[in-house]
Amino acid sequence: MINIKSSSEIKLMEIAGKIVSDTHKHLEKHIKPGITTKELDELACNFIIQSGAVPSFKGYGGFPASICASINEEVVHGIPSNRKLKNGDIVSIDIGACYKGYHGDSAWTYPVGKISPEKQFLLEHTEQSLYEGLKVIKAGARVGDIGNAISKYIENFNLGVVRELVGHGIGNKLHEAPDVPNYGNPKTGPLLKEGMVIAVEPMINLGTREVYIKDDEWTVVTADNSPSAHFEHTVLVTKSGIKILTKR
Ligand code: MG
Ligand code: MG
Repeated sequence: MINIKSSSEIKLMEIAGKIVSDTHKHLEKHIKPGITTKELDELACNFIIQSGAVPSFKGYGGFPASICASINEEVVHGIPSNRKLKNGDIVSIDIGACYKGYHGDSAWTYPVGKISPEKQFLLEHTEQSLYEGLKVIKAGARVGDIGNAISKYIENFNLGVVRELVGHGIGNKLHEAPDVPNYGNPKTGPLLKEGMVIAVEPMINLGTREVYIKDDEWTVVTADNSPSAHFEHTVLVTKSGIKILTKR
């Protein structure tokens, strides 16, 4: 069953979403060569707590940190560590915050210093694919329309759409029904209704779409070691479209 949020629940989710986007803004200033992902994790954790929320990911399924930080060929679920970011890296930062029991969730991939034209291309088109997916959402659309819009857009650029991981409903649980895949057929899948809240999150690889999980049992990496990008917004479904709750 897909939850329809009440207006009071939506108010809390708007605050949670704002805390997530503010945390991104706060971290972005610090994403430079030399900083470790553990330092970024601490900055995010402190910021979320000062904002009156708690980090959604800490302890979720046993995840050991407040944010996911995935560098280059790491797709998602990278564990913050003492590894220093280097000039030319890209780093995907996924942030979740829970405010009075309700979650917001947003990921963004950042360049570190000066990146290659290939990585720039990957970032631009992954971000745009998120917006292509968001464009088709409104009450009466179906979940398959979203994945279809994302994969149709990405097909033009010969990039790999990761299929093993998907977007999701969100509310008083971080992951709720429905699954929101980044591929699919139009007019198929669950019906979207006013008051549903979903996280749409394309994960796109510069090479093959194939991925595997590393020995740490968390970090998902590309099978061919090519770089990967991840952009995610939490959005409220409205009668005529969406409201982005994690707007930057
Ligand atoms: Mg996320
Ligand atoms: Mg998510």
